[in-house]
Amino acid sequence: MALPSWEDPKLGSMKRVALWLATVAGEGRIFTYTQLRDVFPGVAQIDRRVRDLRGRGWRIDTAREDTQLGMHELRLVSVGEPVWEDRKGPGKETSGLTGTRRREVLAKDGHICRSCGISVGEDYAGSFERSQLDIARREVRLPDGSTAVELITECRRCRVGASQLETDAAQTIAEISHLGSMELRMLDSWVKEDKREFGKVELLWAAYRTMPADSRERFRVALKSSLG
Ligand SMILES: [Zn+2]
Repeated sequence: MALPSWEDPKLGSMKRVALWLATVAGEGRIFTYTQLRDVFPGVAQIDRRVRDLRGRGWRIDTAREDTQLGMHELRLVSVGEPVWEDRKGPGKETSGLTGTRRREVLAKDGHICRSCGISVGEDYAGSFERSQLDIARREVRLPDGSTAVELITECRRCRVGASQLETDAAQTIAEISHLGSMELRMLDSWVKEDKREFGKVELLWAAYRTMPADSRERFRVALKSSLG
């Protein structure tokens, strides 16, 4: 079967990028993002398309996996799913989930929208619109550089706005190592509770900020004397 042309403007950008890689670049060959941007000048976030393809079984290596590659080079090791064929991708389609799986995700997420924190049936602030929780698929960048799709509870409103949202688990996990031991313990307690408890310092700060000027001055004097 002949493949569609990568130049067909009716195809989406991921399909066109996939076709260009498969038919022009070719398996085993090196390409760069600059090259892709030149070929697809109108497509924003070309690196996202490449990540999407990785999520669909395409093996595209960077210098991290392939030491032969320069810093800005990528290699199409092997073509994955024929994304140009019409089928439902992992995209936003979650209707294929079983009821059990949905309930599992909702329970694990504490029955709140993981983007804005609203719980089921609650009104959005400043409106009489009721929240509705749903399960979405979130693209996650993992510490090993690969991309995965994970399920997450989101309200309808966030799902609409969050369709481009991506979780950078790699970056977030890497940031942990920059915390001191006190910060680590604090974060650990928030994570365990799945809720942030305000510490004494923050409560005092909030109280201080709302005090009249004279009282703030009194507070400052007291604080200074405590510092010795
Ligand atoms: Zn939400």
